[in-house]
Amino acid sequence: MTIPALPAGVSVFERGWLSANNILLRPAPGLCGSEGTTALIDTGYCTHATQTVALVEQALGAQPLDLVLNTHLHSDHCGGNAALQARYPAAQLHIPPGQARFVEAWNPDALSYTPTGQQCPPFKAHALLQPGQDIQLGAHRWHIHAAPGHDPHSVVLFEPQARVLVSADALWHNGFGAARSHGCVNMSPPDARWFYHWTEPHVPSGWSGAYADAQHPGTRVYVHYDEQPLGTRAGPLRIPQH
Ligand SMILES: [Zn+2]
Repeated sequence: MTIPALPAGVSVFERGWLSANNILLRPAPGLCGSEGTTALIDTGYCTHATQTVALVEQALGAQPLDLVLNTHLHSDHCGGNAALQARYPAAQLHIPPGQARFVEAWNPDALSYTPTGQQCPPFKAHALLQPGQDIQLGAHRWHIHAAPGHDPHSVVLFEPQARVLVSADALWHNGFGAARSHGCVNMSPPDARWFYHWTEPHVPSGWSGAYADAQHPGTRVYVHYDEQPLGTRAGPLRIPQH
């Protein structure tokens, strides 16, 4: 399989655990001033912050960094924000709108850092990545899309000319982009919320998942279709007794 090359001006910094990748966008050669901006999407975990700043410095040289963006506010995506703001004080930081109030009045509990035992140095946000709007990054306009799932407040960024998607943590197992389901159950949002909190293992506030263990083996849920005979479609052979 041929892996398509990234467009000119797009660099990806792969990082060690726990850092998310960082994507640096620069105007194409010959483009400058208001025709393009330098932007960094996601900044990794705080333990790599010094290295993150060095990578950006090395790539930009004398160019300033205009924008820093976070697809979502998990600590592995915004842990380098504070260090980059110290190095590039004129850079504007854009974040998704969902948790902006917790950044404004820094709340490490609501931002999931305290409950997950992770760290994130406080930073200041200047603007919001509003889904449905565009933003100039590097040489191109990128569409901002809401992508709740992995994180309810996450956004993804799409550049339609080169058809490049920065997907944050919105992954589809090992078949990227392929719709995948093992059988969906349609529920109204209030019902789904009740059900989510009723089943075990309980997911602590601010977390996006929890594994079962011996003490909390998880709630077994049978989904019964009125028209579905027992024993079909991997369903139980008899009505379970509780
Ligand atoms: Zn994440």
